[in-house]
Amino acid sequence: MKMDKKRIVVTGGAGFIGSHLCERLLEQGNDVVCVDNLFTGRKDNIRHLMDNPYFEFMRHDIIEPYYVEVDQIYNLACPASPIHYQYDPIKTGKTSVMGALHSLGLAKRCHARVLQASTSEVYGDPEIHPQPEEYRGCVNPIGTRSCYDEGKRMAETLFFDYHRQHGVDIKVIRIFNTYGPRMAVNDGRVVSNFIVQALTGEDITIYGDGSQTRSFCYVDDLVEGMIRMMNSRDDFTGPVNLGNPGEFTMLGLAELVIRMTGSQSKIVYRELPQDDPKQRKPVIDLAKTELDWEPTVALEQGLEKTIAYFRERLAL
Ligand code: NAD
Ligand code: UDP
Repeated sequence: MKMDKKRIVVTGGAGFIGSHLCERLLEQGNDVVCVDNLFTGRKDNIRHLMDNPYFEFMRHDIIEPYYVEVDQIYNLACPASPIHYQYDPIKTGKTSVMGALHSLGLAKRCHARVLQASTSEVYGDPEIHPQPEEYRGCVNPIGTRSCYDEGKRMAETLFFDYHRQHGVDIKVIRIFNTYGPRMAVNDGRVVSNFIVQALTGEDITIYGDGSQTRSFCYVDDLVEGMIRMMNSRDDFTGPVNLGNPGEFTMLGLAELVIRMTGSQSKIVYRELPQDDPKQRKPVIDLAKTELDWEPTVALEQGLEKTIAYFRERLAL
């Protein structure tokens, strides 16, 4: 996609998805400012971009306001893995809510377009399967996942209130489980955990009985969808689901990772965390119609690239 040069902020740009997004936006000829406090992100994720004169890194915590002159804002800053967002749940809530307010405030002042990286977690432990955007969700407001789920739900509310009250140009995407190179070794989410465990010969930890399902999207597909959404027609705000509708059980994923890595690791079962969703799969009809987008990378293909990345990271 060829576009005019834009000044773009990516909050959370040193994280897993954010670093891929910064890279792609630079490739398209934009001027990119990455705002990140490096809580779960790493300078190593963006080191290869540091020499680019159109890339700037700003170490900043988005619970405080930030001031830059921009055309577009992608708001991704927020820990995304349960172990990291539960480490300091009050801070997670602040990051979602204050981060949304500050990104919206900046968009209002600069007349910029602002995109919120929301999540399939707004559907909670869904009673409707697969999940379309109209589904309002089944979220526990007082559980251990609530800091993230309710924080992201409040952020969506703020986005739509700024849009209705101040005419801010908003875009909201709901991202389903995304994986790929640059996930942190200690990220704690299932794909990176299983791969790291398989490559190092440790036990593969399945939480619960492994019958719960998730749909996994390769990061390149997701980034393509995000950019299409940001540049979609003026009156399309979303929310729009972005994810890969292929659905897998966690036991199935463990077996696939063991086979693909040729690992001797054995599967062990651990307690299922509180409010862990039993099933998840996106309806992506809206993304197909509005953005002409659908994922192109099958799970095995994406896992191959992710396994190669972790082999190198772990120097195996
Ligand atoms: P990540 O943890 O790798 O990235 C999050 C980034 O935000 C990190 O670089 C972190 O340092 C930064 N950050 C956290 N708190 C901050 C703060 N207060 N101020 C500034 N920076 C802060 O996770 P990710 O998977 O790349 O997720 C990126 C975004 O996408 C998140 O908003 C997440 O909720 C959303 N999302 C991701 C997935 C997924 O499967 N990967 C699914 C749904 C939604
Ligand atoms: N999970 C697992 N073993 C792990 C990490 C996660 O069985 O080592 C399970 C987890 O309980 C959940 C699924 O895998 O059912 C996806 O977990 P993840 O943390 O990746 O994402 P989320 O639950 O936020 O979708």
